[in-house]
Amino acid sequence: MYDVVIIGAGIIGSAAARELSRYQADILVLEKENDIANSTTMANSAIVHSGYDPVPGTKKAKFNVEGNRMYPEICKELQVPFKQTGSITLAFTDEEVKTLDEMEARSKKNGVPVRRIKRDEILEREPNVKRNVREGLLAETAGIVGPWELAIAYMENAMENGVELSLNNRVKQIHKEESGFEIITNQNRYESRVLINCAGVYADEISAMAGGEKFNIKPRSGQYFVLDRNSGSLVNSVIFPCPTPESKGVLVVPTVHGNVLLGPTSVERENKDGLETTKEGLDYVRTKVMQLVDPIPFRDVIRSFTGLRATSDRDDFIIEESVKCPGMVNVAGIDSPGLTSAPAIALEVKKIVTEILKDLQPDLAFHPYRQGIVSFKSLSVEEKERLIGKDARYGNVICRCETITEGEIVDAIHRKTGATTVKGIKKRVRPGTGRCQGGFCEPRVVEILARELGVSREEVLYDEPGSYILTGRTKD
Ligand SMILES: Cc1cc2nc3c(=O)[nH]c(=O)nc-3n(C[C@H](O)[C@H](O)[C@H](O)COP(=O)(O)OP(=O)(O)OC[C@H]3O[C@@H](n4cnc5c(N)ncnc54)[C@H](O)[C@@H]3O)c2cc1C
Repeated sequence: MYDVVIIGAGIIGSAAARELSRYQADILVLEKENDIANSTTMANSAIVHSGYDPVPGTKKAKFNVEGNRMYPEICKELQVPFKQTGSITLAFTDEEVKTLDEMEARSKKNGVPVRRIKRDEILEREPNVKRNVREGLLAETAGIVGPWELAIAYMENAMENGVELSLNNRVKQIHKEESGFEIITNQNRYESRVLINCAGVYADEISAMAGGEKFNIKPRSGQYFVLDRNSGSLVNSVIFPCPTPESKGVLVVPTVHGNVLLGPTSVERENKDGLETTKEGLDYVRTKVMQLVDPIPFRDVIRSFTGLRATSDRDDFIIEESVKCPGMVNVAGIDSPGLTSAPAIALEVKKIVTEILKDLQPDLAFHPYRQGIVSFKSLSVEEKERLIGKDARYGNVICRCETITEGEIVDAIHRKTGATTVKGIKKRVRPGTGRCQGGFCEPRVVEILARELGVSREEVLYDEPGSYILTGRTKD
């Protein structure tokens, strides 16, 4: 019998697992995909929001503001890329200037420091913003992060502290029993005293499966363009338009790795797995971002993608022990700003779980620090030479766009949350994220994966089960 089973290894399940690993408890995380953070945590704007936007008094406002404050330390402990770039919301019309007034008032209520800035200061900070801008709201505490890197780091640290992770393991049935839960998956049967539902867009189905509260999650899709690192200096901070009631609008966002994201749209979808991009959606992004920044180098678009917000019909995050099914904690409806809120949501989950399991004892051996994968290209010449001297694989550059070495790729495979697919490698050390999108390095990554995992090259997957890259030999 486990003390805690967590369903879902996105940012929320991973952060919760790490917080709970501070206790002497048997904890298992079940994830239906073959890697951590393969769903919404993989496809979002990657912004650590300051917290002026959510309606005061909501869970979104509370956890956003608390989460934002926790980011610098968490990212330091877990060695994850994070930059406090600040954000500027732009007003171009009289109407939008009034919206900034409302947002400023809301910021005060949420306890978020902001400052109104005039056109000259905006253009000094952001020379590519359209010159007809009138005013802006600057939030210096906003930032950007590597979302899946953070989820992976959280899980890695949780596993170093004793948490078990089981991938390719889809929860199919849940039975409430006197002493806890019976959980049946495609792989096995498990028992647990407490169940934590962090299943993203599927959290409504998990709650219903266990006999818990009924709520509906309607995915809202967001489509994006990604610009190559050539365009990394397009903006210095996160650039927002004035928000609408449905969304924060279409943004221009620098990324921690020097790319730029343009997006997202916000459209309700029926399909919980519908990740396709559409011409209509991307045209909308194009039109909207051109109203904020000019010129946008669309020739530098290297990729487009879609993410799905897990928007619930309760209009706020759901973070509570189920009344209908005691012992199950629903962490559901975690749409934006869920990434920002994750560290604070994890603390709340810890509080709820320790109130249910009063006998849990702190684990005095808990170790909060995680050693990240060395980024070869960011080392000094002397450090590079020293590293190559110790391990010649760091002298073998596999990805020329991003300067990623064989040593980094091998490290990404042999960690606790090790990569087993080409996309898994890409998420951890970035070969294939540059201009060539893997055109040059992918065959070499396949070779390294096959060698290190002890499988044939034909068995190596790009991403989900069945996504084989090589189907057979053309010549013997
Ligand atoms: C377009 C867009 C933009 C966003 N921008 C931002 C932003 O800039 N800043 C911000 O703070 N937030 C942002 N968000 C929100 C943020 O991305 C999410 O709140 C966060 O990623 C949610 O994490 P999660 O762990 O709840 O969900 P997920 O990452 O979806 O994880 C849920 C996991 O549960 C697993 N699962 C589901 N069902 C089962 C089952 N039956 N058995 C086993 N496993 C199961 C899934 O496979 C998945 O891995 C954005 C979201 C979107 C879509």
